[in-house]
Amino acid sequence: MVGVSMATSTAKLPGFHKAERLKQLPPYLFVEIDKAKRKLQAEGKDVIDLGVGDPDLPTPPHIIERLKAAADNPANHRYSFTEGIKPLREAIARWYDRRFGVALNPDTEVLPLIGSKEGIANFPLAVANPGDAVLVPEPCYPPYRSGTVFAGAEPVDMPLLEDNGFFPDLGDISQKAARRAKAMFLNYPNNPTAAVATAEQFQEAIDMAKTFGFAIAHDAAYTEVAFDGYKPMSFLQLPEGKAVGIEFHSLSKTYNMTGWRIGWACGNAALIGALSQLKTNLDSGIFQPIQEAGIAALEGDQAPMQQTIAVYQERRNLIVDGLAKAGWQVSKPAASLYIWTRVPTQESSIAFAKRLLEQAHVVITPGVGFGPSGEGYVRFSLTVPTDRVQEAVGRLAKAL
Ligand SMILES: *Cc1c(COP(=O)(O)O)cnc(C)c1O
Repeated sequence: MVGVSMATSTAKLPGFHKAERLKQLPPYLFVEIDKAKRKLQAEGKDVIDLGVGDPDLPTPPHIIERLKAAADNPANHRYSFTEGIKPLREAIARWYDRRFGVALNPDTEVLPLIGSKEGIANFPLAVANPGDAVLVPEPCYPPYRSGTVFAGAEPVDMPLLEDNGFFPDLGDISQKAARRAKAMFLNYPNNPTAAVATAEQFQEAIDMAKTFGFAIAHDAAYTEVAFDGYKPMSFLQLPEGKAVGIEFHSLSKTYNMTGWRIGWACGNAALIGALSQLKTNLDSGIFQPIQEAGIAALEGDQAPMQQTIAVYQERRNLIVDGLAKAGWQVSKPAASLYIWTRVPTQESSIAFAKRLLEQAHVVITPGVGFGPSGEGYVRFSLTVPTDRVQEAVGRLAKAL
């Protein structure tokens, strides 16, 4: 359900032991639900999966046309560069200026990525040594933690609690951990909690980063997926943002391009340089026609994107209003592809999700799968067709 079901494979090769770093990853908690889902599907049941966060709508046609045209040019068939083509870096810098009023040097402060997940997972390898700490929100998008573990560094949890607006309580981080920290991951609008952050909250994190000398890595994958006219901010809009950190961005959610694998990091030149140096040794850049298509996405018609957001907003309303009618009060998120809400019964999040799967044939994600502080919550994803959302809400209302 979160794309790591192979981790549950029990196949064995005699004499082979997988690396310790793989054994340090948190356990995959969706085994039972995955099993129950597959069993229902094998029985021919119509299961609606509100678990995955992968846009169902197609990539806008003008982006696909640009890919096709670029694919016909033999000059685009060769190795690319890790640092990406300059016109893409320039398009990213122009987009940041238009959208956030943030000036970026396209040569030193912008680095295209093979999807932002790639850069996020690799970032700790570029900034942390074995034994260092990396501050990681919990619950969270899994690569913050796995990338930290793979770098031999120690993830130090920052619980995201509802009382604090799902922002880490920075005063709770021990001085010892803060001193060992080389980086702090943040992510707003947030996955899985759908929370958004304020300039004051970002400023608190910046102050702490300056005091203790660590970097901030802000994952901004959802800044463009926001509702009711709300415009999430960039961490780099704060005057000192670029002095302490970088921001990860993605075309995946904004332009329905998850399968294309294109995103970027931008901000502090020293951090961008370190990540770029690391990547030069790991990959050979993004297929150039995809980079050209990325330019078309950023600089072309934005109307399809606005329509996509309107569709998500309609689905959000269908779920929240439909559940309210069934007596389950859920608040409307201002941004992201998710609804994060308390389990309305005394059941654990896994037991509740399992029961809804069995009774309503609807998959929702138990919050505990994103970290222990997610217990007591479930996540709905807005990425299934609207008529299926409607059907799911009807079934959930009956099962509640
Ligand atoms: C989807 C998502 C991403 C984007 O991933 P890509 O690798 O760019 O497709 C990054 N961060 C979070 C929190 C996400 O949910």
